[in-house]
Amino acid sequence: MFPAQFDYQRAHSIDEALSALASHGGDARVLAGGQSLIPAMRFRLARPAVLVDINPIDELAFLRESNGFLCVGACTRDYAIEVSPLIASRYPMIADTSVLVADPVVRQTGTVVGSLCHNDPAGDWPTTSLAARAQLVLRSKSGERTVSIDDFLVDSYTTAVKDGEMVTEVRFPTPDDRTRGSFYKMERKVGDFATASAAVRITLGADGKITGAGVAIGALGPKALRVGDAEKLLVGAKPSVDLIASAAREAEKTADPGADNRGSVTYKKAMAGVLVARALRTTFERLGVKGLA
Ligand SMILES: Cc1cc2nc3c(=O)[nH]c(=O)nc-3n(C[C@H](O)[C@H](O)[C@H](O)COP(=O)(O)OP(=O)(O)OC[C@H]3O[C@@H](n4cnc5c(N)ncnc54)[C@H](O)[C@@H]3O)c2cc1C
Repeated sequence: MFPAQFDYQRAHSIDEALSALASHGGDARVLAGGQSLIPAMRFRLARPAVLVDINPIDELAFLRESNGFLCVGACTRDYAIEVSPLIASRYPMIADTSVLVADPVVRQTGTVVGSLCHNDPAGDWPTTSLAARAQLVLRSKSGERTVSIDDFLVDSYTTAVKDGEMVTEVRFPTPDDRTRGSFYKMERKVGDFATASAAVRITLGADGKITGAGVAIGALGPKALRVGDAEKLLVGAKPSVDLIASAAREAEKTADPGADNRGSVTYKKAMAGVLVARALRTTFERLGVKGLA
């Protein structure tokens, strides 16, 4: 099917994009990689009157560390993350995710920020961003604000972005030497959306006890879900087989999936536990904890 009629504006600077968004209000949508928006328009699930194309804005294509964060610009492609030596060496959870999103063709154009703004319940970046406690930077003609990922992901395909606003970057806290993470995804075949996914980020104290935990699951509810009860029981405890099993049980309880051609509710809830357990084992291994595999 062809999209409904729309106008198209190419923005060459952030100011140009913000002016276009301000003048068209809720009728305008930002076009980033187009990997979700264009199919949605072709199925007439989205009918924006105006597309504001931010792809020419070179200043939004960045991947850099700054002030304790990894900053990923709104025009930074998934592929740039996949091949980045910085990501490979310092951000294992993000590296895990970058090779599991869609397929190489989609990753050439799709963006992390676009994925977060789309907020597909089965999207991979929302899960990882929750575990990492990411922040998003939003700008409009009237200023800039920073929103935590928990507040940003409002509901299925709904975010905190207001009319006239755009996201300029997502920030992931830079892990210290005692922090590692991992991401797991179960898919029917390579390139498919997740049947279930899990991301885990753990900080170990010098005494071997966990001092920080981020646990999230994806494709298991109306949006990516934080497994807060698993985080609570992890912090203050020492890594163990029993602890992993308890955290996995919390993930099963938090999961709220629907049945579809990827699996039944019972199966998907079980997979929440399996994937959180795998992500925890890998994360502990990356932290040098032995004997939990
Ligand atoms: C065949 C196929 C398979 C896929 N498989 C997966 C998968 O396995 N896992 C997965 O996670 N994703 C998957 N995707 C989705 C893919 O990752 C998309 O690229 C991503 O979800 C959207 O990124 P984008 O840059 O293309 O955004 P776009 O499609 O350009 O935009 C998506 C939405 O976000 C809004 N938006 C984009 N950027 C901004 C911004 N800076 N500020 C405000 N709003 C903005 C747009 O207006 C639109 O509403 C798949 C897509 C395809 C086509």
